[in-house]
Amino acid sequence: SDGKIIAVIGSGLIGRSWAMVFVSGGYSVKIYDNQPGQSAKAITEIRKQLAELEEAHMLRGTLTASQQLALLSSYDDLAAALQGAFFIQECVFEQLEVKQSIFQDVERLVGPDVVLSSSTSCLVPSNVFSRVQNQSRCLVSHPVNPPYYVRLVELVPHPETAMTVMNATHALMTEVGQAPVLLKKEIDGFAVNRVQAAIIAESWRLVQDGFISVKDIDLVMSEGLGMRYAFIGPMETIHLNAPEGLEDYMRRYGEGFTRLLHSFGPVPDFCGAGAKSVAEEMYELIPNQEAQLEARRQRRDQLLRSLARLKKEQ
Ligand code: NAD
Repeated sequence: SDGKIIAVIGSGLIGRSWAMVFVSGGYSVKIYDNQPGQSAKAITEIRKQLAELEEAHMLRGTLTASQQLALLSSYDDLAAALQGAFFIQECVFEQLEVKQSIFQDVERLVGPDVVLSSSTSCLVPSNVFSRVQNQSRCLVSHPVNPPYYVRLVELVPHPETAMTVMNATHALMTEVGQAPVLLKKEIDGFAVNRVQAAIIAESWRLVQDGFISVKDIDLVMSEGLGMRYAFIGPMETIHLNAPEGLEDYMRRYGEGFTRLLHSFGPVPDFCGAGAKSVAEEMYELIPNQEAQLEARRQRRDQLLRSLARLKKEQ
């Protein structure tokens, strides 16, 4: 990393997480937010989190919390924040117009080789970067929340993105301890949200159509499929589950999967009258009140921390 500078634009939940990931790898990180004082507040919050992580022996990288903190600086001025940076990670609101305009401004202020990377969850690169002149240095680096424990980053190219930019970003993400995957071309939802949508849709249909309770469909994942998916993906799963591997598996079970897939229903009604009973069943388990939701979020993050520790030992 050698004193190299990364600029993080937008200092909300994801901007702060990226800043922590990059300083853990020894990079200097300049944080910018267009709300005056917001990026300074982000550093105060990060200081607290780094101290807690150090205390819990969960700090990433080889530097101490105070060494990592010393790599951070905050800016209310975009040009000053971009000065000297070789890589820009944008983390502003998920609104196309906001992202398009920030990248237009950024391009005017940085050299031609600086990589422009967006954290967008739902917007494709050809839209996000439509106002950038040199699109060969643009890509989406989509993290999963919370990125400090869930290491996956989807790298999604613009149709014009140079392979060297994809490879350099892959190397950067690996160096700072993330687990990057490369999309070969852009698609709505990338890979994570497409797979997630498939799981959520079928879970929702099974509940809504009266086959299983909300509580039990969640157990299907947390006590069943999820146990292996934290370590082995669906492709390796099928490869291992037949004596002669993947083709053997599909000879045995492919017909059954095809039959099941043809029986999947249409896109569920997520917000209409039919959604009410699903929501009410969930509120019985976990009331939709701030205190209860926050307690469950903390439990989730605690569990993810333990899982991250376990995965590190593998
Ligand atoms: P957030 O609302 O917590 O933070 C956004 C920050 O950007 C705010 O501090 C805001 O002041 C700042 N901002 C807004 N417009 C700006 C501008 N023009 N210039 C500079 N700063 C500006 O949002 P978040 O949850 O951190 O999400 C940021 C991005 O990361 C979004 O694109 C989101 O889709 C993506 N993302 C979020 C998650 C998640 O779980 N929250 C996961 C993956 C990706």
